[in-house]
Amino acid sequence: MIELSSEEARVLGCLMEKAVTTPDNYPLSVNALINACNQSTNRDPIVAYDEATVERALDGLREKRVSRRVRATGQRVVKHRHVVDEALQLSVPEYTVLGVLLLRGAQTPGELKQRAERWHTFRSLDDLEETLQRLADKDYVRQLERRPGQKESRWMTLIVTGAEAAFAAAGAPSVAARASVATEVDGEGSNRDPMPAPAVEPDTRVERSLEVRNPATDELIRSVAVTDEREVERKVERARRAQPAWAARSYDERATLLRAFRDLLEAETEECAQITTREMGKPIVQSRNEVRAVLDRVDWNVEHVGAVIAPRAVAAAAPGPVEERVTYEPVGLVAHISAWNYPYFVGLGAVVPALLTGNAVLYKPSEHATLTGLRIVDIMHRAGIPVDIVQTIVGSGAAGAALVSAEIDMVCFTGSYETGRRVARSVADRLVRVQLELGGKDGAYVCDDVDVDSAALAVAEGAFYNGGQSCSAIERVYVHDAIFDRFVDAFVDVVGAYRTGDPDDEHTDVGPLARAAQLDVLDAQVGDAVAKGARVLCGGKRIDRPGAWFEPTVLVDVDPSMSVMRDETFGPVVGLQRVRDDTEARLSLDDTEFGLGGSVFSAERTRAERILSRLEVGNAYWNRSDRSSVTLPWSGRRHSGMGVSMSESGIRAFVREKAWHLGP
Ligand code: NDP
Repeated sequence: MIELSSEEARVLGCLMEKAVTTPDNYPLSVNALINACNQSTNRDPIVAYDEATVERALDGLREKRVSRRVRATGQRVVKHRHVVDEALQLSVPEYTVLGVLLLRGAQTPGELKQRAERWHTFRSLDDLEETLQRLADKDYVRQLERRPGQKESRWMTLIVTGAEAAFAAAGAPSVAARASVATEVDGEGSNRDPMPAPAVEPDTRVERSLEVRNPATDELIRSVAVTDEREVERKVERARRAQPAWAARSYDERATLLRAFRDLLEAETEECAQITTREMGKPIVQSRNEVRAVLDRVDWNVEHVGAVIAPRAVAAAAPGPVEERVTYEPVGLVAHISAWNYPYFVGLGAVVPALLTGNAVLYKPSEHATLTGLRIVDIMHRAGIPVDIVQTIVGSGAAGAALVSAEIDMVCFTGSYETGRRVARSVADRLVRVQLELGGKDGAYVCDDVDVDSAALAVAEGAFYNGGQSCSAIERVYVHDAIFDRFVDAFVDVVGAYRTGDPDDEHTDVGPLARAAQLDVLDAQVGDAVAKGARVLCGGKRIDRPGAWFEPTVLVDVDPSMSVMRDETFGPVVGLQRVRDDTEARLSLDDTEFGLGGSVFSAERTRAERILSRLEVGNAYWNRSDRSSVTLPWSGRRHSGMGVSMSESGIRAFVREKAWHLGP
């Protein structure tokens, strides 16, 4: 247990706050700390500390082993960082609540939830109160008596000397505190010797918060607290404890809650679509389409999961007295690590059937769709799904890796082939069930019997919808020699007319890329193709504006040696290649390590089916592309994945079968 003076409490609170909200400017110099302490917003009381006060408080914090001095390599300025989370063994939510209490004194849970928002998003008031309770168990906080006329009672921290008396006085704490600061400052010397150099440790920056930026402008939307490794473990433990009771509920009870979730999501469609557009750049019309379409998928699951997992009597192979039956039990704890490109389809595609079948879910949205993921789970909690049954893990790949290493029963991963392999390897020893939905390099074949203009429209839609950032986007187009030139002209006309720009604008066809890093991949693929003889008919380079922008790009004279025709592009770039006949087209479509989907555009269904039936893909499209359906199994072959989602097979992925042999 530590006891802090009020100055130490303020300085420590500031270090804790800035570590999360401005990680780029952290650790803090004494000057930065003075400003932080004397800030007029988010502080109570408002104070006017000088350098000596802050230095003295820092000395005290170091003696109490909750702060350290650091010096970045090559820099002379000594800075300060706290180590309170290590010293007091705090989880992210606990850290947040304690920090806000240090900065603003006694507060109600409602006030704390709202004021903590910049540090960490609490899923609900219950969640926050649970955190207060955990801190109370450690004697770090205490609930104050409720005052007459007040709805909620306040909580105070016990780690500040005399805090109780100060808060009991309430009313005018600010003035009193300011006066005490002034007298104490006078007595202490401000010219203390700096600590000797050996005590200074290297600058180590702990990833504590995630900055969510708008890819259309590169502006910071907000910063969100990251779930650290210890917190992941705690969440897993809580889910483990809660899951049996969830599984024991009747299917109808679970379905009723998921239906309530669906209705709330529908009511908040516009807000949800805007969140997604802001954080990942998907054109607003496409974000709305995704939210609306996912409602039907939730409905389908609610209507069908119950029947799929109902106990089943089996007709025994040989007549006899033994009755045979199959029952379905949840897998237990499902970790869902999700991609950002279709956060509602991909996220809910796993979370909804996993919950309906009686599992608890730890959902790690991609860092590029964090706010969408948090919103989805928030709606679930508001709909009444218990907070421990579906929980969010926030962070980048490190948070995903921590989740995969935790005591889970199944990991349901959507993402790239490289990360998918890493995930599968890391759970292999523990025999954790794995489902992988990975990348693609879908090809389309345009036969010589098509209506060229309509085919060009349809193929371009499949290639450039969502800026080409779809696992099943068309990334390679093979066009029959007889119509190649006409098709290319029509295709370039369509793509050239696309409006690229502000994703909030309802008329925008192509927005920014969600990830700036992908610009390098696109540059490299276009550069490689051009170096090997390809011609750029449209686009071909970055757009010079803040954010992550690339022109919709069409390449011809491409061949299979070029990386644009082999490796996943995941952006608005497509290559068009001439083929002589159906056989060359089929072999070209299959000439890839991926196996997600393949499309044939033809006036003749039997011709298309003949080609599609021989492709090594999970999804076969005639005159369509880039489409998934909740009633059909979604799977990829080779580097495109393992396991099945959606449809009845996808539901069974979340249960374990039990065979019953019942003798008379
Ligand atoms: P990534 O593989 O980069 O990431 C996928 C998820 O894994 C993210 O949440 C990521 O976190 C997390 N992650 C990263 N490293 C690790 C790790 N070591 N352990 C555990 N988790 C980790 O893919 P993207 O998110 O960029 O998604 C694009 C890819 O997903 C494309 O290849 C696309 O084709 C594929 N995809 C496949 C689909 C299918 O159905 N087959 C559907 C949609 C997409 P973070 O992002 O926060 O770093």
